Amino acid sequence: VTSSVLRELIGLTAWIDTHEHLVEERHRLRPDGYTFVETFSGRTSFLPSDWTALLVGYPLDDLVCAGMPTARAYEMCRTNLEPLAKWDAVEPYFEQARRTGYLRALDLATERLFGLRLSRDTCEEIDRRCRALRSVGYYTLVLRGVANIERCHVHSLDVDPLCESAQPDLLDADLSLVPLVLGASPIIERMSGIEVVTIDDYLEVIDWTFGRFASKAVAVKCLWAYLRPLDVDRVDSPPRRSFKRLRRGTADTVDQRRVQDFLFLHCLDLATEWHLPVKLHLGYLSGARRAAFPYISRHVDAVARILEAHPTTTFVLMHMAWPHQEQALAVVKHYPNAVIDLCWSWIVAPLAARDFVCRFITTVPAGKLLCFGGDHVTVENVVGHAELARRGLQKALEDLIACDWMSGNDALELAPLLMNGNARKVFPPPTFAASSSKASRRGFS
Ligand SMILES: [Zn+2]
Repeated sequence: VTSSVLRELIGLTAWIDTHEHLVEERHRLRPDGYTFVETFSGRTSFLPSDWTALLVGYPLDDLVCAGMPTARAYEMCRTNLEPLAKWDAVEPYFEQARRTGYLRALDLATERLFGLRLSRDTCEEIDRRCRALRSVGYYTLVLRGVANIERCHVHSLDVDPLCESAQPDLLDADLSLVPLVLGASPIIERMSGIEVVTIDDYLEVIDWTFGRFASKAVAVKCLWAYLRPLDVDRVDSPPRRSFKRLRRGTADTVDQRRVQDFLFLHCLDLATEWHLPVKLHLGYLSGARRAAFPYISRHVDAVARILEAHPTTTFVLMHMAWPHQEQALAVVKHYPNAVIDLCWSWIVAPLAARDFVCRFITTVPAGKLLCFGGDHVTVENVVGHAELARRGLQKALEDLIACDWMSGNDALELAPLLMNGNARKVFPPPTFAASSSKASRRGFS
């Protein structure tokens, strides 16, 4: 088997993309951009309608890392400056960061979508092409037609706790646990119609949430690694007084943790009843200067305790826990109920991801590896990431062939499993949960 045969197969095989933050397509069609409140942080976010939409998220993070003041970076996206003026504002930082995975993926995206690479000469043309691309149905065109992605799991950042997409053939949904597990979730409480006074009322809100949304979800997703350490203590009885203090705004850290841990464990029980895998953010945090960053080195350690305590729950350890991927490998080898997802990995640490695939396949049964999630809010950027992931996967398999670990035919058999077959097994389609005995016993529609 030559590498061109392997490349062709990987190019023709569709990804099941297990992690995106895409907003609904209709929001991207607005001529003046899309402003929304990020559910888990309460922060206002903006997706511009010009070419700088391509920078939103990770590329912007690396411009800030290269020295662009954060406020200036975000302000630049928001203002009505001309496309060229925006390029001039970012260029020195952009060129400095150009070789990172974040910007490499951006270059691949514009090359694949428009046949162009961002520069002072092309930014106006790319701006026109970006606007022209955005018309009804363009998500399908970009994801299926260009990136060859069969479907995407979306963890919505603008609709809590789950976005029921207008494109259910293309987009699946994660049921988000943050802010639900924080003990105050005004939007969901209002939706449920349950007035919350005690923690028992709040548990009812959580049960209502699963009853209303679990059958529409492919997984539950918890990203509280952005807010706290992942260590979860057993809390045997409902922490009633801590919950009261939390609702009054007088809770200390101990109260908060006790309430959150208790609610999280309740959610794990429900996820298990509904046969929903639990996706956990592990490892590196996007952005800059996050208060929770110092905890990342303990994530894998903390998650091992959770895996130990919930043997019948499937856990999806996201982002290969980079930079602690070797420890994550040990954990996923040790616990049958854990799988690893390389979402985000091919752009945050491209060589670590390639190396990790080789280490994984030679250490852990291959059915426990999910190989791609773009992790983007903007569909355009998924294109570049999907391409980087294909190239990385190809190189990893070639490495294993070159060192006589597997045959070329073996690699050809493995590639489709890594690209979509494993995902199909780990995440049953949403209708499965809907028809489960639990769902009907609970009497939810
Ligand atoms: Zn994400």
